Amino acid sequence: MEKWTFNSEDRKRLENLEYLCPICHDLIQDPVETECSHLFCETCLATHVDKGGDKCPLCNVEINADEFSYPSFIKRKLQSIQVSCTYPECTFKGSWKEIQIHYPPHFYTPCPFCQEKVQNIERHVEQCPAISRECSKCNQTLLASEQKQHKAECLEEYVSCPFAPLGCPYLGFRKSFPEHWADTLKHHTRMIQEASLQLHKF
Ligand SMILES: [Zn+2]
Ligand SMILES: [Zn+2]
Ligand SMILES: [Zn+2]
Ligand SMILES: [Zn+2]
Ligand SMILES: [Zn+2]
Ligand SMILES: [Zn+2]
Repeated sequence: MEKWTFNSEDRKRLENLEYLCPICHDLIQDPVETECSHLFCETCLATHVDKGGDKCPLCNVEINADEFSYPSFIKRKLQSIQVSCTYPECTFKGSWKEIQIHYPPHFYTPCPFCQEKVQNIERHVEQCPAISRECSKCNQTLLASEQKQHKAECLEEYVSCPFAPLGCPYLGFRKSFPEHWADTLKHHTRMIQEASLQLHKF
């Protein structure tokens, strides 16, 4: 994705309003105000101070981090300034907050199957609801949205018997399970009896 830039008109307006950070020359992020009433991004000014800067980068007056203030009303103002989208041929105008949500999807790829614009097409196609795949077990054609449900129902899936914890060794296709169930009813009943006997021993 390309980095956002304001159009020259917006940039000029923001510059006049002193909403551009004198250090990074972008719109101020998380504004911090020095005692000389200059505004910077919080991270930009912190980097400046960390590097030993003890004067305001703009007016060279001595500054002291203890005197910085974090004007939240300016932060809100910055979020609500109206700007134009600069993606080619896009005519969207909105607040800076809206633009940040609006702009990135310009760089998303439309999925050829469901037409949805997505950030990561490789990851999306693995679960695109419009792509059908065959069940590897029974060859039935399924949409992504149906696959999970199908796995629980597919007759060609291997299943074990609910009596497995009591020692039933059955492991077979789901389609053959009803047979097993009918054939071994006595068997299963005995398993229950044995299990309860085991319990009574203690
Ligand atoms: Zn900055
Ligand atoms: Zn200053
Ligand atoms: Zn746009
Ligand atoms: Zn799709
Ligand atoms: Zn299946
Ligand atoms: Zn069984």
